Amino acid sequence: MSKKIRKKRTKQINHNTRGGKVMKDQQKGDDRMNAKQWAAFALAAAAGLSACKHETGENSGGKTIPQRDEIAAEYRWDLASMYENNAVWEKDFAEMEAMLPKFESFKGKLTDGKKLLEALKLRDKVSARIDKLYVYAHLQKDLDTRISENQALADRIATLENSYREATSWLTPELLTIPEADIEKIIKATEGLALYERFFKVLNRSRKHILNDREEALLAMSGNVTRSAGRIFEALTTADIEFPTIEDENGEKVQLSYGRYSKMLENKNPDVRRRAFEGMYGTFEKFQNTNATIFDANLKGYAFIAKARNYESSLEMALSPNNIPVSVYEKLIAATHENIEPLRRYMKLRKKALGLKDLHLYDTSVSFVKGGDREYPYEEAKATILEALHPLGKAYTEEAHTVFNSRWVDVYETQGKTNGAYSWGTYEAHPFILMNYNESRDHMFTLAHELGHAMHSLYSNRTQPYIYADYTIFVAEVASTLNENLLLDYLLKKAANKDEKLALLDQWANNIVGTFYTQVLFAEFEKAAHDLVAQGVPVTADKLNETYFTILKSFYGDALILDEAYKLTWGRISHFYSPFYVYQYATSIAASTYLYQKIAEGDTEATEKYLTLLKSGGNDDPIELLKKAGVDMSSPEPVQHTLQKFDWVLTEMEKLLGNDE
Ligand SMILES: [Zn+2]
Repeated sequence: MSKKIRKKRTKQINHNTRGGKVMKDQQKGDDRMNAKQWAAFALAAAAGLSACKHETGENSGGKTIPQRDEIAAEYRWDLASMYENNAVWEKDFAEMEAMLPKFESFKGKLTDGKKLLEALKLRDKVSARIDKLYVYAHLQKDLDTRISENQALADRIATLENSYREATSWLTPELLTIPEADIEKIIKATEGLALYERFFKVLNRSRKHILNDREEALLAMSGNVTRSAGRIFEALTTADIEFPTIEDENGEKVQLSYGRYSKMLENKNPDVRRRAFEGMYGTFEKFQNTNATIFDANLKGYAFIAKARNYESSLEMALSPNNIPVSVYEKLIAATHENIEPLRRYMKLRKKALGLKDLHLYDTSVSFVKGGDREYPYEEAKATILEALHPLGKAYTEEAHTVFNSRWVDVYETQGKTNGAYSWGTYEAHPFILMNYNESRDHMFTLAHELGHAMHSLYSNRTQPYIYADYTIFVAEVASTLNENLLLDYLLKKAANKDEKLALLDQWANNIVGTFYTQVLFAEFEKAAHDLVAQGVPVTADKLNETYFTILKSFYGDALILDEAYKLTWGRISHFYSPFYVYQYATSIAASTYLYQKIAEGDTEATEKYLTLLKSGGNDDPIELLKKAGVDMSSPEPVQHTLQKFDWVLTEMEKLLGNDE
């Protein structure tokens, strides 16, 4: 269903901070690609979830969070551009509900080219509208999660979506009864069907994973159950969670929140950072057994679908919609372990620069640069980002200007608003960006990141038919991180002094830790966790803790102190409810770092190819799309290139730091 892309922010990704970023991504995409109805489960998990809390760090330390009406309208979403009010939404809802029985009339008639085309068009139409209904309901809910009316709207659209799945669940199995060669003939003989060629290609690829009519209907009906782990996790970790009150740097008591937590990890006072860490992980420790049970349900739900659909493993199922071999995933983990040294080198550099006797994991977000932490008011951030994006051309920046200045961005943290940041749009409405902007440089980068997603959606929706407009995360995070690379480059060139330069280089390094190393660490953990289920090992809090901590140690070695409570990190990562998702952050940053280099060098052909990638949506497999854009993800080159750049950045930082002494 539609596309929601959450950011994992740099540090956010660090352990101390967030874990999540996210998606929602393919959901509908899969469903409409229908060939992948099966994969709908993956999305399902993601969908229901929409949870994905990766906190972005929100409002700056203020003790009270404003109410929505205290924020100027221009900094709040105008959802009326989507639906004027709930009554209009209801009308659309009723209309779609009434359309569902129509699918029945196509049953048994799909060998008739005209009927087939009609059925597919109807499905596109209903699916696109359900996207819109779904996104509106969820955007509204995210603005104030405390309002039960908003929750009710979201629940209802989830039910309608399920009915839609049921109403169309016979379609793919029926298509599969038609031999490939016959389908080819039907396409050739029917004007208009050529549009669906790729759809049929993907369908053919998944023939052996699609079940018969009755079984598909059962799986569709089970959606509400198999999706529930993510929803329970979200309820537990957002609505019900209660954080303690802790002392801030001024000795004042403040209540910990996700937003304050990430802010506190950037605090210069090591005691504040330690207290924030203890408050956060102490809270998660209290319900670790409940949390492990939810996690187990998530793993088992996924394993159930994988087995039902004849996959060798949950991993194989997760990668198959994108046609990515399991070996790519495994090689990514192996290659990272071969290049683990720069990560440890960076930690040692931090320890020295911070002048700490002991460096803890919660000390890895704080800036060690004097005066390197100036604030970026929202208006200044917008202007800076637009300047930085110039290499992408006038058309791109002009459109970006529209995104920023048309109430498509909900800027500030308000009471009850969901945390983190994301971009979420649908084919029938422009994208919306959610922020909890706190004026930090980090948040300015998050804004550039989300803008990248929003622009990608705009370009793709405009260029592609509905059925191919959704792009996969594998490609999505290239569009967002490339913007971050451009912003960083721009700021580095403009850096007024050594400290500013150092702060930016450190941000880049931190980003690689968060977006690359940490995501690979998560990816390795996920595989290990799913393997436990496959091997019949009971999934308990102890087992998850042990598994996580072992992998964590294999990354950091003795480069810093790993407090034991970090073993609980698995319990905070909402992305794990969209299994095998996060590795794509690592592959994406590698791809975008590689592509960025050419664009920054002024290679206009490379820029053109890149913009074509944005316009291509999901009209080909992601690895193919990226190949056309100039980067081959089945080769080790992009990863090597990225880690070489990391190494170079560390050397530059060491030089700048050395001059100090
Ligand atoms: Zn993103």
